[in-house]
Parts: sequence; C-alpha cells; structure tokens
Amino acid sequence: MLSQKMQSALNAQINAEMWSAYLYLSMSMAAADKGLKGVANWFAVQFKEEQDHAQIIINYLLSRGGRVLLEPIAAVDTEWESVLAMFEQTLTHEKKVTAMINNLYNIAIDEKDHATRSMLTWFVDEQVEEEDSAREIIDQLRMIDCNKLGLYMIDKEMAARVYTAPAPLTKE
Ligand code: MG
Repeated sequence: MLSQKMQSALNAQINAEMWSAYLYLSMSMAAADKGLKGVANWFAVQFKEEQDHAQIIINYLLSRGGRVLLEPIAAVDTEWESVLAMFEQTLTHEKKVTAMINNLYNIAIDEKDHATRSMLTWFVDEQVEEEDSAREIIDQLRMIDCNKLGLYMIDKEMAARVYTAPAPLTKE
C-alpha cells in the first residue's frame, strides 16, 4: 500500500505537471499570436507531453489503489517579451520540476517503496531530456541574437516537432 505521504506527494506532482501543461499552452498561444507557428507548435507538443506526465502518475496511483485528488491549477503568465524569455522560463521551471521528481524519489527510497521508485525512474531520465532540449534552444536563440532571419529559421525547425506518446502510456 502507498503511504499517505507518498500519495500526497504524487498528487502534488500531478498538479505540478498540469500547471506545466497550462504554462506551455499559454506560451503556445502567445507564440501563435505573434505569427510564430513553429514555436506555437513546439509548445503545443510540450503541452500534450505534460498532460501525459500527469496521466502516467494518475494511472500509477489508480493501479496501486491510491486516491487521485485534483487541485486547482494556479494562473500562468500570458505575455513574454521574447521567444528567448519563454525558453528561459521553461528551463527555470523544468529545473524546479527536476527537484520535485528527485524529492519524490527520495521519499520512495526512505519508505522502501520500490514500485514507486521504479515508476519514477522514467521521470528522472525525462527531466534530463527536458532540461537539455530547453538549454539547446536557448543556445540557438542566443546565437542568433534577435536576428529576424535566424528566428524565422528556428521557427521553421520547431514546426517539425511531432508529438509521440511516452513509453509508459504505450506499453501493455
Ligand atoms: Mg513534466
């Protein structure tokens, strides 16, 4: 059985993933508003992925006989001064999520909850990727240094990002 502490921490993580989804949807809308279709697409894919992260934890809680409690989703920003600012906030936020995942992992270890620890391993790896991809895009955006042609090309590249369901939701 899941401990109460583990269950509340996992519920808090569901809320954090939904907040992330909401943040990236807002960024997608802001980019679309500026005619940056590729950036809008990149964040729309990110929006779906964050919902998947929440779903993975929801499925896990249900499979362990836990109770899923959905909390209100706090407000997110709606305006950014640049695409670079969006990705800087993305990286800062993902670092926070990484710390939360590590904290969940520590609780699972403390409680010798091997099933939860195993489920979280996927998230530990995912966070390395999340931070890395945000960092890579920040580097590219800094390289073009507000150059409009550069941004046009990055936008085109981001238009190619395709959503794929994560492994934990496709197995079975
Ligand atoms: Mg996430």
